[in-house]
Amino acid sequence: MRTPVPDYLAEVLDGVAGDRSGAVADYIPDLAQADPEVLGVAVTTVAGRTYAAGDADVEFSIQSISKPFAYAAALADRGTEVVDATVGVEPSGEAFDELSLEGGTHRPKNPMINAGAIAVHHLLVGPDATGAARVERILDFFSELAGRRLSVDESVYRSEMDTADRNLAIAHMLRNYRVLGEPAAEVVDGYTRQCAVNVTVRDLAVMGATLANAGVHPVTGRRVVPADVARRTLSVMAGSGMYDGAGDWLVRVGIPAKSGVAGGLIGALPGQLGLATVSPRLDGHGNSVRGVAICERLSRDMGMHLMQAEPYGSTVLRGIRPDGDTTVVALQGVVQFSGAEAVLHRLAEMPVDDSEIVLDLSRVDRFSDVGRRMTLEGLRRLALDGHTVAVVDPDGVLPDPDLGDGTRPQVRSRPAGGG
Ligand code: GLU
Repeated sequence: MRTPVPDYLAEVLDGVAGDRSGAVADYIPDLAQADPEVLGVAVTTVAGRTYAAGDADVEFSIQSISKPFAYAAALADRGTEVVDATVGVEPSGEAFDELSLEGGTHRPKNPMINAGAIAVHHLLVGPDATGAARVERILDFFSELAGRRLSVDESVYRSEMDTADRNLAIAHMLRNYRVLGEPAAEVVDGYTRQCAVNVTVRDLAVMGATLANAGVHPVTGRRVVPADVARRTLSVMAGSGMYDGAGDWLVRVGIPAKSGVAGGLIGALPGQLGLATVSPRLDGHGNSVRGVAICERLSRDMGMHLMQAEPYGSTVLRGIRPDGDTTVVALQGVVQFSGAEAVLHRLAEMPVDDSEIVLDLSRVDRFSDVGRRMTLEGLRRLALDGHTVAVVDPDGVLPDPDLGDGTRPQVRSRPAGGG
């Protein structure tokens, strides 16, 4: 059998190919040369499998899609406190190149607008880093995420530097308020190189999947950023990633995302996948027209809207069955808060007596921290009620099941009653 996923992606591309509305960005002269017909999509799952269709190997400059990744690198390099003191996390509702700062603090409102991204670039590596070291950090980090060596498109870089007056104005404003501690031109130079790194949608999909996978690279298995950095980066993308169209995007597509003026668009659906599209014609917000349409379709067809989650908890309690004097309570899947709550709710209905209760964990994949704590607390309370408690845990998904008072349930390696 051939998996139908690439065929589905090709069909989605077919569906949007006829839309020639919008215009290629021309404020950076080199981008005006882009082939407006380029159209590609790629999806990478958190298990590390990539599916692609169309122009999936065509390179284009990453532009503003670099912003969330530079933010993640700065958080990893400098810590939340330093980064927060420099740039906020509030959606600005303004265009990407607005000359605006938060009243009072003079911080840029968020790292997804140019003011914030220029300030973030300046934070990379450390307080005394050279411009070259920051660009090296960006190239190394983006390359590790993409799984191949990336490089700066010198022509795009030079073309943008020739016309970078607005970003220079933003940087001068930041320096005026001491947000930047070094010459505006130097920081804009590094930021512009950051934006000119060439990528494909395949690169971006795996980069997005790393954020969706809580910072662990889905192909190499390496932790590339701490989990809290990945979560924060996705949160900022959800609030501010789509320029002044961010609210509309969250309602219609519901996937944390970032677009770039070269026509790229990246999305990252926590726990599931990274996705990326390319199509250079942009709408009035500066987002790729066909990219937005593809993401809308994927979100709708594949139920990817973040606010439309499955009722995970209800599937955790697999069943309760008597086995002589024993009651076997079987769990399955991933036990998080809502799953543990469903189990505890049923256990609370158990009559108070001295019968044995066996928790069968042989079909549990794993416990989250809260799932583990709640389950152990439930066992502790059953024991206090007079029950004998035991767990069947052949795969060791609940190691060291200390009930918090020094006692432990009996641990068995085989399901009771032969079942
Ligand atoms: N390098 C571009 C700029 O700063 C990035 C803008 C974008 O992709 O939105 O103007």
